[in-house]
Amino acid sequence: MDHTYRLRKNLDTIINKIEKARIAYSRHQVIQLVAVSKYATIQEIEALYACGQRAFGENKVQDFKAKSQVLDELPLQWHMLGTLQTNKINTLLALKPTLVHSLDSLELARALEARCARENITLNALLQINASYEPTKSGLPPQEAQETYLTIRKECPHIELKGVMSIGANTPEIKQIEASFEKTKNIFDTLKTQGAEILSMGMSGDFEIAIAYGANMVRIGSALFES
Ligand SMILES: *Cc1c(COP(=O)(O)O)cnc(C)c1O
Repeated sequence: MDHTYRLRKNLDTIINKIEKARIAYSRHQVIQLVAVSKYATIQEIEALYACGQRAFGENKVQDFKAKSQVLDELPLQWHMLGTLQTNKINTLLALKPTLVHSLDSLELARALEARCARENITLNALLQINASYEPTKSGLPPQEAQETYLTIRKECPHIELKGVMSIGANTPEIKQIEASFEKTKNIFDTLKTQGAEILSMGMSGDFEIAIAYGANMVRIGSALFES
């Protein structure tokens, strides 16, 4: 089946919305779209690639491995978004992810550092912040984020921290969603002198709010692939 028409339409809609929100925030802002392909088929990823999309995100190492291997011939950038278990580190590193968004503890950073040092590779990563304090979510509590970021920068020379990631508050209350994004943005701003360039926040349901609070990388799945 040819998915190209539907996916091009979805992509155009999303890009237009991102562009409106971007201009409202700042004409100088540059925003990157990561297409979250965790619910998508190989054919759908290929169709979105044909529309010009290059960055894709998965939240499980096994799916990342399976899809990136099948699509090996395409020049795609793969982002790892989901909680990372220590026993999956070797598999993940072998896949050479463009960016890991889900570095969520000092302990995980140390485990990654040890493996990267042994392999003599550098890993690009974002520190995940649980800005809405939801117990079901991974990520550091905001009050620990800055110190942990600096410790990782100091202790883990094979981890290139590029910024922070957060998942918006899971609630219909826009004020709470805004508060969680604002908190993450404030942490991001304090870390700019420490090499933070990427503020990854915003998904299908809240990316326009995230952009209004300074997100420069959005991770969109269902709105892109919906029929
Ligand atoms: C699934 C997922 C997304 C995309 O969510 P949608 O609501 O489908 O856009 C973004 N970020 C992470 C970490 C995810 O797991």
